[in-house]
Amino acid sequence: MNKRKVCIVTTSRADFSKLEPLYQGLLNAHDVFEPILVMSGSHLLVEGGNTWRDIEQKYDVAAKAYTVVSGDTLECMAESVSLGISKFTSIFSSLKPDCVVVHGDRFDALAVAVTSSLLHIYTVHIEGGELSGTIDGSLRHAITKLSHLHFVCNEQARTRLLRMGEAPNTVVLTGCPSYDRFKKLNMEEESLISVCKSWGVVPFKFAIVMQHPDTVNRDSTVRDFKAILQFFESCPDPILFFYPNIDPGNKRIIKLLHEHQKSHQDVYRTSVKILSHVPFDEFAILLRSATCIIGNSSAVVREACFFGTPAVLVGNRQEGRDLPRNVRAFDSLASACLVNVYKDLRGVRYAPHTSYGSGNAVDIMIAHLAESRPSTTSKIFNDACTPIKVICTQQTAVTNTNGGDQVEEKVERISVAVDAT
Ligand code: UDP
Repeated sequence: MNKRKVCIVTTSRADFSKLEPLYQGLLNAHDVFEPILVMSGSHLLVEGGNTWRDIEQKYDVAAKAYTVVSGDTLECMAESVSLGISKFTSIFSSLKPDCVVVHGDRFDALAVAVTSSLLHIYTVHIEGGELSGTIDGSLRHAITKLSHLHFVCNEQARTRLLRMGEAPNTVVLTGCPSYDRFKKLNMEEESLISVCKSWGVVPFKFAIVMQHPDTVNRDSTVRDFKAILQFFESCPDPILFFYPNIDPGNKRIIKLLHEHQKSHQDVYRTSVKILSHVPFDEFAILLRSATCIIGNSSAVVREACFFGTPAVLVGNRQEGRDLPRNVRAFDSLASACLVNVYKDLRGVRYAPHTSYGSGNAVDIMIAHLAESRPSTTSKIFNDACTPIKVICTQQTAVTNTNGGDQVEEKVERISVAVDAT
């Protein structure tokens, strides 16, 4: 039997946390699959934390694509898409994969999906059907339309894709693959203490801050970032601050950060550690151990809930996402308010909540990839006039013992009849 060549294209750490578990699953199923890894986007940039190094140490990388046009403008983002299409065209034509897997809602992912679909390569999209603010929400839905198979993370996402006209047999509820990884991590007390120590903090006595540019609301990007800088001055605990991603607007906020650092050297010497990137497993342990996470990273909305860590969502970058109960959302920030919120959250833990998966996504994905008959010539969209019935069942969410402090929850899924009329 010919092995199925599955090409995983990773563009940044934000997608690799979801794509790596699938890649590992495909490597384990090597009798059926020939997985190929392509690395691109911010992995290859210093500003992206040089994440290519970690990846190259662990895996064979079939190709690298330098796809990011340097600069801080919307034009650079648009040109990066065109550069990506050009690079991926050469790479896919030479590697000849049977299938390409892409994740999420980023402009680099759009370039991957445009190329693979134009080359008639079966395209699989992870995490379609969710909502995000900024241009990302439009990009996510555009990638959906270009993809042939959808691995979605929750029931709402599945329903949304069906409403968007994707054929029911192409939309598979898998959950988020990063949860598979979370489930396997050692969250014993000694492990938390030792990882925290290596990053200079003590469990449950520090905050994580991750704030990226909002590509649409550029004024609010600066306003919210200034409020975060003021928070640095008055936070009673140490802060692990992560550099913003490479989206337009990042140069401006990095400049603000550096100016602030210059004028508040004591604060940065004693309380604020600036990081580019922490390997995913360690990042997860820090997230588990933090007093709270603050910012607009997807980790605030999609991941902190898994550990019951309080989360403070800032601004509109994640607009429309389903917010688990550990998340407090603020349209914009006043610094005094942020300090008060932080003080309020000290000592609070939430029951872990698995809004975006149950930790068995990879097995479901592998089974579907093995069974699916890749065909790209005839993508059929459901006519908007045809009513679709979605049958939902009860589902038991993940139980993770995790020192005995996580609880089992029964999630009642609502039956939805999607009717376009
Ligand atoms: N992440 C990581 N190491 C880090 C910071 C983040 O592995 O140092 C992971 C995190 O767990 C999450 C993803 O990267 O899965 C989020 O990345 P980011 O905030 O950069 O982007 P977003 O998803 O908000 O676009």
